[in-house]
Amino acid sequence: MDDGFFPGGRRAAVCLTFDDARLSQVDVGMELFDRLGVRATFYVSPRPFEQRAEAWRQAVAAGHEIGNHTMSHPCTGNFPWSRKHALEEMTLEEMEKELLSANELIQQIVGVTPKTFAYPCGMTFVGRGVNQRSYVPLVAKHFMAGRLFRSEIGNDPKFCDPAHLFAAESDKKSFEEMKALVDAAVAQGRWLVFAGHEIGSGGIQTTTVAALEALCRYCRERESEIWIDTVANVATHVLQARQQASHII
Ligand SMILES: [Zn+2]
Repeated sequence: MDDGFFPGGRRAAVCLTFDDARLSQVDVGMELFDRLGVRATFYVSPRPFEQRAEAWRQAVAAGHEIGNHTMSHPCTGNFPWSRKHALEEMTLEEMEKELLSANELIQQIVGVTPKTFAYPCGMTFVGRGVNQRSYVPLVAKHFMAGRLFRSEIGNDPKFCDPAHLFAAESDKKSFEEMKALVDAAVAQGRWLVFAGHEIGSGGIQTTTVAALEALCRYCRERESEIWIDTVANVATHVLQARQQASHII
């Protein structure tokens, strides 16, 4: 097998990401990540984020990444809870304000400016019909990466668009199901990004502690072929390695 694309010739990169600053992420997840020596990425929503400000500052000090997930979490207005913040009714200017105000708030609370972004609900548009626009270019302008949700495919690090990163859901998945995705990423030399919400014992939108702990251990035991790190750290490597390769050509 050829040397991999990632540092030390590793074959695959795996990122664990969690959205919305759900309280269980710091209340339950942080102890697990710190005990297993794994850094994760958290795409935070302002209100719950402020409720655990001190815990999130500790998370940053421990090397975890805090990313942008907008201020008001706009999704399609077909979700009744999102009708007041419907992407169909938004403009690119309004979306840019969402991105920049969330960056400011995160900077005020934890002292770092987000380098990466997660599209709420994995949706990348504003407006409707002939006036619909993609806001991927805005994300590319302000961040080194943008993460989607519930994608069917992983990312080829030599080809992918970091502003439009495909991601597999980790919620409700067993360790065996996640392991199958990691094994495929190793076989194909891919950058695999997981996306979840709550961290707990089970239920809606929850990545279980049991599956997460087994997955972290599995990746750490295979450190020679799997690099598990934050989205910003992997994106930095991917962009630098691609730039160097283009100089060689
Ligand atoms: Zn979200």
